[in-house]
Amino acid sequence: MPAFSLGPEQTAWCAELRTLAAERLRPLADKGEPGHVNRPLLAELARLGLLARLFASGALDLCLMRESLAQACTEAETALALQGLGAHPVHAHGSPAQRERWLPRVADGSAVAAFALSEPGAGSDAAALSLAAEPDGGEGWRLTGVKCWISNAPEADFYTVFARTTPGAGARGVTAFLVPADRPGLTGSALEMLSPHPIGALDFDAVPVGADDVLGERDRGFAVAMGTLNLFRPSVGAFAVGMAQAALDATVAHTRRREAFHGTLRDLQTVSHQVAEMALRTEAARLMVYAAATAYDEGAADVPKRAAMAKLLATETAQFVVDTAVQLHGARALRRGHLLEHLYREVRAPRIYEGASEVQRGIIAKELYATARPEEAR
Ligand SMILES: Cc1cc2nc3c(=O)[nH]c(=O)nc-3n(C[C@H](O)[C@H](O)[C@H](O)COP(=O)(O)OP(=O)(O)OC[C@H]3O[C@@H](n4cnc5c(N)ncnc54)[C@H](O)[C@@H]3O)c2cc1C
Repeated sequence: MPAFSLGPEQTAWCAELRTLAAERLRPLADKGEPGHVNRPLLAELARLGLLARLFASGALDLCLMRESLAQACTEAETALALQGLGAHPVHAHGSPAQRERWLPRVADGSAVAAFALSEPGAGSDAAALSLAAEPDGGEGWRLTGVKCWISNAPEADFYTVFARTTPGAGARGVTAFLVPADRPGLTGSALEMLSPHPIGALDFDAVPVGADDVLGERDRGFAVAMGTLNLFRPSVGAFAVGMAQAALDATVAHTRRREAFHGTLRDLQTVSHQVAEMALRTEAARLMVYAAATAYDEGAADVPKRAAMAKLLATETAQFVVDTAVQLHGARALRRGHLLEHLYREVRAPRIYEGASEVQRGIIAKELYATARPEEAR
């Protein structure tokens, strides 16, 4: 089935997910505390089989879940996505023992996962990370340093941590570790952010890790991180498309009933054309997200470029669409608790995390020049 045309089963599944998000997940999200992990919400995502589906299906399914949940409950969407982001390295690179210990608990919502790559001195330039993994004299290492802007920290139950095992080797000297939250020397603190999901900083004070805690191979951890991001970037785009669709739906409903100038707002052509533009751009972003996810599922060679394009286009589009929706709603959109006030706060961060828009452009350009044939270069 081509990516630009979902099959009837996929379309029906998306509709079902939107209903579940509105009826079963939204009430639990409303009871949660902003900035904190919502365990009842995770348990419900598990009961609905959605957390298990993170590991049982491909990139397109992940995108359909994120887009559909985002339309009715961004909190549920983000809780699901963060379980996937933190646990994917275990799923893809973990030893049988690591997988057996953690993945069933990720799927039933009892273990909260997190992905710890960013540091105060290494954000976009992730290969500059400096969290030190120093040999402990035996088989293991001690982790010392700081991670920051880590979603689900400090409340997660385990962290995929990227640490430097070979100083001065850049991307080639990084190892991925699975670090349970109860390791001695590991502490954390919450950070209050514009976006409502839980996020924090982690402090590592000689935290012991052993060979059993390594994910994949020593010094090959950067590939673990980048492989995870290649899967998740289109799905960040799907999250953005879901938010854009929610903003568009709200705007169609509002502008057709809001009375002004002896008619409704939709009767003003500048208004209806803006609504058309919102729909046009949202659909274009959606198609690029589906195509990138399908390319990932098919093992295409140009996944990094397509994942970057999908994330870039969709997150920038969602910012435009949500901002236009706020404009067309007027003051009511900015009232605390309004859907658009919520989306306006949610839509900003995805243009920064998992690679800022400028970083995506860098990836696209690098891939273009790397694959250009000599005659095209002339
Ligand atoms: C809500 C939220 C959740 C997050 N969750 C996680 C998480 O779970 N795990 C994790 O590891 N990290 C997480 N992050 C961190 C995120 O990945 C980083 O913020 C991001 O990589 C950018 O790094 P930085 O903030 O240090 O910005 P910097 O690297 O300092 O960049 C600042 C700006 O400089 C510009 N810039 C940077 N590099 C380039 C370039 N090459 N070319 C052109 N311009 C450039 C861009 O405009 C960029 O936005 C999260 C961030 C946010 C906001």
